[in-house]
Amino acid sequence: MRRERATEYIELSVRGEVAVAARHPSQTPCPRCRDAGFLSEQGPSGVLTARPCRCRGIDHRVKAFNHARLPARYLDACLEGFYPRDPSGGEALRRAQELAWTFTPHSKGLLLYGGYGTGKTYLAVAIARVLTLQRGYSVRFVEMTHLLSTLKASIRGEGGEGLALLDQLARADCLIIDELGKGQQTEWSQSVLEELITKRYNASGTLICTTNYDPRRASRGRGQHLEERVDSRVYSRLQQMCALVPLFGGDYRRVAGGEGERPTEPAAAERG
Ligand SMILES: [Zn+2]
Repeated sequence: MRRERATEYIELSVRGEVAVAARHPSQTPCPRCRDAGFLSEQGPSGVLTARPCRCRGIDHRVKAFNHARLPARYLDACLEGFYPRDPSGGEALRRAQELAWTFTPHSKGLLLYGGYGTGKTYLAVAIARVLTLQRGYSVRFVEMTHLLSTLKASIRGEGGEGLALLDQLARADCLIIDELGKGQQTEWSQSVLEELITKRYNASGTLICTTNYDPRRASRGRGQHLEERVDSRVYSRLQQMCALVPLFGGDYRRVAGGEGERPTEPAAAERG
């Protein structure tokens, strides 16, 4: 019940590449306080006191959701909508639910790993949905290659969020890095990642990552290991900051029915 009430007055939609939330039209302006943000009440001694209206909580959670910049194609991702296809999926869902509902800003994060379409990003976004819409925490979601291209553009003087973005990412209660290790690894991209992970590490900030690369030490030497894709210092910090959660199931998106479908084919090196 509590879970439903929290999002009852919030509407989700898509704006460009991101999912956005807004107060439901029936709540605009707020029928209880006409957007004053508080309600006055007469106390037992006849003195008027003001208490915050529930719309302030709604606005806070709407803002948190929009700040997260969750990808539009995962608009409907929610923990209740994830159907495990094998035991690893069931365990991953359990870990995701546990983190979402017991989260505090220094909670240990998750490193969700597995092949394409196993539902890693879906679960990460579903956690973000609970943290923002239900619990009002600040979350940031970034896709690794998108982050790098944004930073590159700002260095070339093409505007964008620029280097302030790294600070924003470092400060969120929970940071989600999608597709860790994807794309060409350069000295520069490695140093950006290291700076970001170090900032999170020093602040004991929660980190959730998804990756197609295997983070287990025992799996080394098959060309698909995470340690071959990120700097060894980053690799070792990830091991400390995140619990390793595998997803072995087949292509989740084909079963889930399309909304998570990606338009582009993965590069050969990145197929599981
Ligand atoms: Zn109100």
